[in-house]
Amino acid sequence: PDVISEPLFAANHVCDVDRVKEALKDPSKITMVQCAPAVRVALGEDFGMELGSLAPGKMAAALKALKFDKVYDTNFAADLTIMEEGNELIKRVTTGGTLPMFTSCCPAWVKFLEDNYPELTDHLSTCKSPQQMAGAVFKTYGAEINNIEAKDIYSVSIMPCTCKKFECDRPEMKSSGYRDVDVVLTTRELAYLIKDANIDFDTLEDSEFESPLGIYTGAGTIFGVTGGVMEAALRTSYEVITGEKIPSIDLPAVRGSEGFRTAQIKVGDLTLKIGIVTGLKNIVPILEDLKSGKLNLDFIEVMTCPVGCVSGGGQPKLLLEEYRELAYNNRTEATYIHDKNLPLRKSHENPEITKIYEEFLKEPLGNVSHHLLHTKYCIGKEVTN
Ligand code: SF4
Repeated sequence: PDVISEPLFAANHVCDVDRVKEALKDPSKITMVQCAPAVRVALGEDFGMELGSLAPGKMAAALKALKFDKVYDTNFAADLTIMEEGNELIKRVTTGGTLPMFTSCCPAWVKFLEDNYPELTDHLSTCKSPQQMAGAVFKTYGAEINNIEAKDIYSVSIMPCTCKKFECDRPEMKSSGYRDVDVVLTTRELAYLIKDANIDFDTLEDSEFESPLGIYTGAGTIFGVTGGVMEAALRTSYEVITGEKIPSIDLPAVRGSEGFRTAQIKVGDLTLKIGIVTGLKNIVPILEDLKSGKLNLDFIEVMTCPVGCVSGGGQPKLLLEEYRELAYNNRTEATYIHDKNLPLRKSHENPEITKIYEEFLKEPLGNVSHHLLHTKYCIGKEVTN
């Protein structure tokens, strides 16, 4: 099928790809890059690989060939998000906090709620998205462990999403004291950059992401599909609440592609009532039910794109409907296969997550986390630079 890779142009017509190229050439900048979960199941399509090919090793190798100084991974930050968001959910459920709690990792959904239902923003988790958590960690803990200054770090994120460009521009996303994420490239723009540098993607030998900010579990990688954030959060919340191993790591009750699905999940003595929404048009009736007191759910995942981030607006573009459907299915399947084959599949079992709490963050929802990893919402106000 035909796929298109091209750089996107910002309002001022300066191309983000050119910004990254400049930074890579600038010896005074230390470039740190992160890649979202959904990028690794779609990037290969731009180089003639099968739709939905899983290629994290080639992606890491390509980023090293482009001469990024540190090749990290948003999946690590997805694990971190679960530590914070899972604990936030437990706190809200056990202390009578605002419920249902909505996930907050999709910036298009967050902006929609801020603009259209500002009275409901207390329902949003205060957790930043994995992209923004990673950015804040790169310029604090990342600077510390690499013995460099935060001002010298140029933080690049590779996303399946055009809205992530808006998110990194939000004025509150400067918890490190600097802009936490300097620039966002889409999957298509990364493909363009790789081609522009004459890197032969097909023949690249697989490479690894760098430790500690590039190590991830299966829970981190399923953030790319609808229901994935919910499943990852439940894997951790179950074990934190009960102190026991979750009976099945796979949670088929939350998987699927319907625009709105619900389930009841037994967590020890608790029965969590959960909902999953994919495709923003499906959220409006749910928000109206919430306003009129008719909604009885504890936790709701909301993603704007048709089947979550694997179908994001920055992914390789498929011109024919039949291929689009196939790509969405294959990318979703590849994401679950990747999860299944990873040695660790629960965020709280990621040894590098344990380490960052021991060395730096101290505890989920603690003071450092509150400052770096959580946010506030701009209720009804225009977000400007
Ligand atoms: Fe971006 Fe779509 Fe993912 Fe939301 S669901 S974060 S808009 S790619």
